[in-house]
Amino acid sequence: MRIKCLKCGNEQIIFSHATNMVNCNVCGAELAVPSGGKADIKGEVIEVLG
Ligand SMILES: [Zn+2]
Repeated sequence: MRIKCLKCGNEQIIFSHATNMVNCNVCGAELAVPSGGKADIKGEVIEVLG
């Protein structure tokens, strides 16, 4: 899915089932934190792909 960083507005594509912590490529804010097999999305979801 495509999500937007709430801090800097950077858009980034991540997997909804990410097993690793995903940080914004620009400012380093947490975008997704793994929780029980499904990622806890911290940013704003722009678009769900696939
Ligand atoms: Zn950011």
